Amino acid sequence: MSTNRYNDKNVFFDWMSRTYITSKAGGVVPPCLIDIHPVSGECNNDCVWCIGRAQRNEIVPLNKTLDAPNVNDVLDKIFSLRWKPLWPREVHICGNDSEPTLSNATKPIIEYLHKKPVVVELITNGLKLDDPDLADAVAQIDKLSISLDVTNNDDYKEFKRPKNDTGVSIDNGYDIVIGNLKNIVSRRRNQKSKLHISVTFVATRHTYHKDQWRRCFVQLRDIGARKIRVRDDLHAKKLVDNLQSDIKALNAEIDGIDIGFISPEEKYSDFEYCYGPRIWPALAVDCRLYACAHIANSTFRPFADLMQYSTLMELYQDAFYPPNSPCPDVQSIGPCERKCPSMIGRYNEPALAKKRLTMTALPSAKQKRDCIGGTHTKLFNEYTESFFTSENCSCGYS
Ligand code: SF4
Ligand code: SF4
Repeated sequence: MSTNRYNDKNVFFDWMSRTYITSKAGGVVPPCLIDIHPVSGECNNDCVWCIGRAQRNEIVPLNKTLDAPNVNDVLDKIFSLRWKPLWPREVHICGNDSEPTLSNATKPIIEYLHKKPVVVELITNGLKLDDPDLADAVAQIDKLSISLDVTNNDDYKEFKRPKNDTGVSIDNGYDIVIGNLKNIVSRRRNQKSKLHISVTFVATRHTYHKDQWRRCFVQLRDIGARKIRVRDDLHAKKLVDNLQSDIKALNAEIDGIDIGFISPEEKYSDFEYCYGPRIWPALAVDCRLYACAHIANSTFRPFADLMQYSTLMELYQDAFYPPNSPCPDVQSIGPCERKCPSMIGRYNEPALAKKRLTMTALPSAKQKRDCIGGTHTKLFNEYTESFFTSENCSCGYS
């Protein structure tokens, strides 16, 4: 069952490095991290900076195969008892162009995962967390990330354009999300949960005012959020001046909350294969697996259909056996343009992968014993030894 753990980026990287190295050494193992997208083509906001908004207007949503009644059947394939040592370590419930809390599958997914030794994060806009049953379930997960983006109702209405269940515009989106956040924190206290809450912001020249944002950050800290992340609007013609230094100054000024700036994701340069499927794929609402969260929609080709297999392990054996069979070549995925999620991009880009691997911690004695699994760890150790001792790395990336 969930133990309310918070993992920082270095833990992610260590897991991904071990899976990457094991794969390169000829092991066929499922990924340590999986995204689950229970909705396709649907959101109750329409943020002007939304990367997925064009997709919602232009492409056909995926078939809804993952639904409340079959959540257990689908997740049993991933968490098959037979392959317990190789279960994913962390699951993110989120959306490609969509809001996950609009799906009736989200609460059963959380309840299912709560009984497994897996770290669970929900990434949401927070508008639907007023549902008491959903809020009770969310208070028990490990990590909640809410995209708030603005600091008042007027900006919420103008730039995030929220609608209620009947399609009518909402005037007080900011107040609703703040109220829902307080509600979750109260449940966290009552349930003695250690839920880690992050709040994210996209800064634009229309919405960023340092003093207002300072007040909002203090309010979020006082409510009980522990982390704030800010990034630029990548579609804007002109970015906010001095945003990174402002955020650094606010972090120094405001105690009790970790405030940081996220560097924009960039297009990575040429590489032949995509390691997304091996280290961090996305299971979309059609129950197919896509190479990464950025491409889990009908524009792209999935690399496998989970419903065709009894277990995720069998799917991986089929997709990637014999040993060293390559990951999907980038051309076969579709027009993703190599705009990779930043953490996966660091494994796709050969020079960055090599750098990352040299920073990877070897598994501790305890980690060797527990859920990474004997075979996984043995391959990792053998391959890592050759990686670190050979001048010409045998993965071909030297
Ligand atoms: S809440 Fe997220 S998915 Fe919805 S419109 Fe805004 S950015 Fe897009
Ligand atoms: S964007 Fe990057 S990680 Fe995603 S499918 Fe394309 S190559 Fe793979």
